[in-house]
Amino acid sequence: MSSQKNILILGSTGSIGVNTLNVIRTFPDNFNVTGLTVNSNIDDLEKQIDEFHPEYVVVIDKNKASKLQKRIKDKCKVLSGSEGLIDIAKNSDYDIMVTALVGFAGLSPTIEGIKRKKRIALANKETLVVAGELITEMIYEYGAELIPVDSEHSAIFQCLIGEEKEYIEKLILTASGGPFRNWGKHDLESVTVDQALAHPNWKMGNKITIDSATMMNKGLEVIEAHWLFGLSKDKIEVVVHPQSIIHSMVEFIDGSIKAQMSLPDMKLPIQYALTFPERLGCSYVETRLPKLKELTFFEPDYEKFECLALAYKVMETGGTTPCIMNAANEIAVEKFLKGKISFTDIPQIIKSSLDKIENHRSPNLETIFECDRQTREFAKNLFDN
Ligand code: NAD
Ligand code: MG
Repeated sequence: MSSQKNILILGSTGSIGVNTLNVIRTFPDNFNVTGLTVNSNIDDLEKQIDEFHPEYVVVIDKNKASKLQKRIKDKCKVLSGSEGLIDIAKNSDYDIMVTALVGFAGLSPTIEGIKRKKRIALANKETLVVAGELITEMIYEYGAELIPVDSEHSAIFQCLIGEEKEYIEKLILTASGGPFRNWGKHDLESVTVDQALAHPNWKMGNKITIDSATMMNKGLEVIEAHWLFGLSKDKIEVVVHPQSIIHSMVEFIDGSIKAQMSLPDMKLPIQYALTFPERLGCSYVETRLPKLKELTFFEPDYEKFECLALAYKVMETGGTTPCIMNAANEIAVEKFLKGKISFTDIPQIIKSSLDKIENHRSPNLETIFECDRQTREFAKNLFDN
């Protein structure tokens, strides 16, 4: 690669954060960690500080932040709270911001990275779901770069290199179908937390794992694709592909389909987002085609997986409805993980929130924050046992 890049990782102790550090560990000459942020896991963060020597770290939990500063003394500067997250995004030295934190919390620091014209390696899909129009406008206005880390979007991004937008017939996002692909609709009522956390192909954080089980993850990804690639609802299709070998596809107007494939490993799309347009040789996975038994494809069941249907609906309605859906989903997933509601209450909480909270057309940032706050306030009292 041409020069060493400074990397800021938001959410460094999570699944994407740790995989990003695995990539960086493989290429110490190419990447240098300048900042790390976490919610509260200071034990893992301390080990990361010892290995990667960032200049700044942020711990959202303020008590944990001061505990860590005492423990590490002057090894690096510890900032705290969501203001610390903004501060590091606004003022620290980095070339690439990896947004590996989960949920709505990704929005504000991402905006600061865009204003500084940085490359955003975007894992935090919720940012584009809640504020896709504003974010894409800002990327254009400031001349920043938005490179997808999500495996489906990285696949589509790679398939589109050298192609014109007018040649695209449709984007085909693949979905594993999650652990309940073959379950009956009514069986979903009795799903336990452990069953929902057992994803067949990927090891990920809890929130996205539940989103994969409800197929809300694919719904969020359809909206993410809409903003990243500027295509409408009827040009974005979902296909269930249980083996997760083809990460996504693009069909062109002449009927030809390009696919991007490998054994599933998030280090690949993460590394690509860091090195694009270059590639670095690595051997995380070896995809031996004769060893793959079969590649199969199915239509998704929109009746069973209501969250996927809801995502298509809010994408068409627009305004603040994707923000309402996202906030209600974050609250519902949290409640399900705590055993407070059933698995099938998740789409019900989203639907009740969409009915209750007012939709605002062409929202500004303030309206989006207010909509997120109102929806959380409303959704948190729904369906408690
Ligand atoms: P995770 O739960 O494993 O990790 C989340 C990280 O963010 C942790 O370091 C945590 O300390 C931090 N964090 C949590 N809440 C926070 C808050 N409110 N404010 C600041 N920091 C906070 O999550 P993950 O699976 O790594 O996913 C991260 C993001 O990447 C999500 O948006 C997810 O949808 C997306 N993504 C993940 C995968 C995957 O394979 N895990 C794939 C594609 C996209
Ligand atoms: Mg994905």
